[in-house]
Amino acid sequence: MTITSTNIIEETNYYGAHNYHPLPIVVSEANGVWVKDPEGNTYMDMLSAYSAVNQGHRHPKIIEALKNQADRVTLTSRAFHNELLGPWTKRIAKLTKKDKVLPMNTGVEAVETAIKAARRWAYQVKGVTENQAEIIAANGNFHGRSLNAISLSNDPDATKNYGPFVPGINKVNYGDINAIEKAITENTAAIILEPIQGEAGIILPPEGYLEQVRKLCTEKNVLFIADEVQTGFARTGKMFACEWEGVEPDIYVMGKALGGGVLPVSAIAANKAIMDVFTPGSHGSTFGGNPLACAVSMAAIDVIEEENLVTKSLESGKYFADKLRAINFEGIKEVRARGLFIGMEFDQPVRAICENLKDKGILCKETHVNTIRFAPPLVITKKEIDWALQRIEEVVTN
Ligand code: PMP
Repeated sequence: MTITSTNIIEETNYYGAHNYHPLPIVVSEANGVWVKDPEGNTYMDMLSAYSAVNQGHRHPKIIEALKNQADRVTLTSRAFHNELLGPWTKRIAKLTKKDKVLPMNTGVEAVETAIKAARRWAYQVKGVTENQAEIIAANGNFHGRSLNAISLSNDPDATKNYGPFVPGINKVNYGDINAIEKAITENTAAIILEPIQGEAGIILPPEGYLEQVRKLCTEKNVLFIADEVQTGFARTGKMFACEWEGVEPDIYVMGKALGGGVLPVSAIAANKAIMDVFTPGSHGSTFGGNPLACAVSMAAIDVIEEENLVTKSLESGKYFADKLRAINFEGIKEVRARGLFIGMEFDQPVRAICENLKDKGILCKETHVNTIRFAPPLVITKKEIDWALQRIEEVVTN
């Protein structure tokens, strides 16, 4: 039997759980901003695996690091030291200006780690009575799929029939500083926020919000956890999106592009006063900080720096978003953008537009029903953006 996209999709739907609603496209090869299906059709990737492929698919430098390390040692577990964990943690510590780094694999594991750190900090440093620690989260957030992470969520699709949830969580509206002030109690350990909400539809905070959160957290002795899993590593035109307001969180949560679109690599970074709450046996991961992940991740950071992806994201994002704003179609409500993190909101669901764009050679996905997210690999050129814009305009206005 010849292998076709149809066969692959049928088999996947038959044996695989239905926990996603993918576009009917199979990606079997990828390079830079371009991917191919088994029939040889070429598409431009405008999603970047939810911002995990900021450096472009199969960046040669990252693949080389992967291959070289695969020839030496791939996994040691944390039962032993490996040569790369020191250099890699140092690199991220310098990048985030924090004392220490704790490695994990996926974004949600790093979120879990940050919350565990904040709770321990509340008991061991702040002096909160055991089992009373509280976390404040923002409505509309997406922090991942674990029970802890969905306990932070107010999305019915993500939470329905999964209770009971983790207690001690207060939810406030994103962007409302007064609501945070009201929600803080003597037991509050931390506030966790995305500096730009991704899955909610690329929601930018009101100007000054992150700065106000930072100030409030300092005043009230509450930790500010920034979930930069999707916004980090140049996606928004800064290395981290918190830089848009010159803000330094107490805990950075990182993932996705930290693995260069090749491996799951995540981490938290924080100063000693927080990170020292972890002692041997208190937290860990078999795969976190493995030599293969460290090698790939260091190459991933090299690429961002050497190819000026922060500046590229900023400039290309402005160019792209301005042109999207200029498309003359009354159904477009708003284009929200920071760097190449772009949300184009319509007055109705956009699934059909995404499917039509696929037929024109552009892969993108709705985020939050009415918004299309355009988040191509940051290595995209102006010519490639123009190629996409022409097709986007055609689809949207027809
Ligand atoms: N936090 C944020 C802000 C995210 O966008 C995501 C994934 N979309 C996660 C956490 C979870 O990451 P992962 O899927 O790697 O667990």
